[in-house]
Amino acid sequence: MSDLFLKKCKCPYCLKETTTKRVLSRHVRIEKTEFDGFIHYTGENVYFYEPVQCEHCHFLFHESFEKLRKEDRPVLEEKVTNFFPLLPYARTERTLEQALHLYKLCLYTAQLSHQKDAIQAMLGMRITWLYRMLGDAENEHLWLERTAEKYEALYLDYSDPVRSGITHDTLLLRLADLYASLNQYENAKRWYSLIFANKEVSESTRKQAREHWNDYKETHAS
Ligand SMILES: [Zn+2]
Repeated sequence: MSDLFLKKCKCPYCLKETTTKRVLSRHVRIEKTEFDGFIHYTGENVYFYEPVQCEHCHFLFHESFEKLRKEDRPVLEEKVTNFFPLLPYARTERTLEQALHLYKLCLYTAQLSHQKDAIQAMLGMRITWLYRMLGDAENEHLWLERTAEKYEALYLDYSDPVRSGITHDTLLLRLADLYASLNQYENAKRWYSLIFANKEVSESTRKQAREHWNDYKETHAS
């Protein structure tokens, strides 16, 4: 399809250059963004093409993955590179279901290779959104809960934006929005209140939080 091109990227496992389909940036068309950051595209869906499978060693990864640790390599060899075949749709056009499968495999390799919690949570968020696109409310809810748990663990263990892989403001807003999506009123209120009360949170984040909280109360509060 003309909206896609073959992008070169470096495999974090074998360090060789591999290629994967991506949406040409000039063809990316955004219809709208939902309050939790989920973007609706009118053309080719950018999310579908983020997961990569290396054509040489078959490792599955997301470009946000960091350098692999030596001690993780034996288990990755056993459970991923020696185990997974080259998936036929990894380097072609993808359906929603195929993209979902690739994200789950990426999350699996992220867990095996001890990628940052922020990366694992980001993949969980993408999986949540793909289930939303599928109209599968049950699985969307399940992945919202898992992702909220991951972000909450990240919050408790937060050090700084570089080591944690996310800014403190974004993390707070993400948690508040996740609990709003889960329709957990008390939890959403608790996290939005934390943002309103925290003088170190930027004005723009507080403004977004205020809008999200007001929208949520209007549509959900009894
Ligand atoms: Zn490779």
